[in-house]
Amino acid sequence: MKELTSLLSFNTFTSGETLSASLRITRAAVWKRIQSLRATGIDIQSAGKKGYRLVHNAKSVNPLYWEKELKTEWLGQNIIYEEQMNSTNSVLKEAANKGAPHGTIALCEHQLEGRGRLNRVWETVQAGSQLTCSVLIRPQTEIDKAPLFTLITGLSLAQSMESLGANPGIKWPNDIILSGKKVAGILLEMTADMDGLSYVVIGTGINVFKGSYPTSLDGQATSIEEYLCGPTVSCQDVLLRYLEHLEENLKRFENEGFVLLKNEYQKRCITLNSRVRVIGTETYEGEAKSIDNTGALIVVDDDNILRRVLYGDVSVRGVIGYV
Ligand code: ADP
Repeated sequence: MKELTSLLSFNTFTSGETLSASLRITRAAVWKRIQSLRATGIDIQSAGKKGYRLVHNAKSVNPLYWEKELKTEWLGQNIIYEEQMNSTNSVLKEAANKGAPHGTIALCEHQLEGRGRLNRVWETVQAGSQLTCSVLIRPQTEIDKAPLFTLITGLSLAQSMESLGANPGIKWPNDIILSGKKVAGILLEMTADMDGLSYVVIGTGINVFKGSYPTSLDGQATSIEEYLCGPTVSCQDVLLRYLEHLEENLKRFENEGFVLLKNEYQKRCITLNSRVRVIGTETYEGEAKSIDNTGALIVVDDDNILRRVLYGDVSVRGVIGYV
């Protein structure tokens, strides 16, 4: 199937004759293959004798639409793409267990069983074309630093939306917020062995278009398209920017540690200096003051006791609403 797409161009038509000669198959077989590509969501225009031409599809994450434009050194250079996956994180973890290299990504058009933290559900709408992508990294880092990758991913997502003209905030630890509503979520999963951290899989679900989340979430979810209301956006734009920012930030983390990245994160963190309710084994309220060098949230509770809130254990909510 790959061979046929590599013969097609976005700008000019390729005739059925050329395709059948290059692939050494009949014109009817060419037509059949074109139909099966269309069934996977690839837009192909056909125009009589002129032949076939690829048409851009803003909602697709098929590598065909973005692979050649990716400017990273290692992130996203190995791609696992399928039209449908139960969970991009699960597919990537399986690949990681079989030895997939650092920087491999898994992405699909429709994720059927997206997961959030603490066994929550990450919702998608089949026809909505949400951007769901997981990234595999094999870092040389101690296990206790692994949660920092959630914060670094949040920062990268925020920066990629900024470069598209949006002004996102980050709700500690891992939600990206536009106009008080959630536009993207992150789920980090890791595996360790006797020698330490073996790999980390970072999954993200990004509502790029209105309709990529169910209407039951209307009150608390939004999409980049709704926020920008006007300029066109594509899943490919978001993906390319996200992968480029993430690679850059991961390089910085390796070279400089978390301190400078933390400043960037804190600038965008809307949880800081606001009243929060921490919901875990114990529930309490207080004021979120800062983030420490391990990525924990520092909260001063109503008895003036300093609390260190760790990622993974708790949900943090605004006292009035979700944010
Ligand atoms: P938390 O918001 O506590 O950090 P998670 O990061 O695990 O929780 O995200 C899961 C939550 O996100 C769900 O409980 C639901 O409220 C919300 N959610 C699920 N799907 C979407 C979506 N497509 N867009 C926005 N929010 C969503």
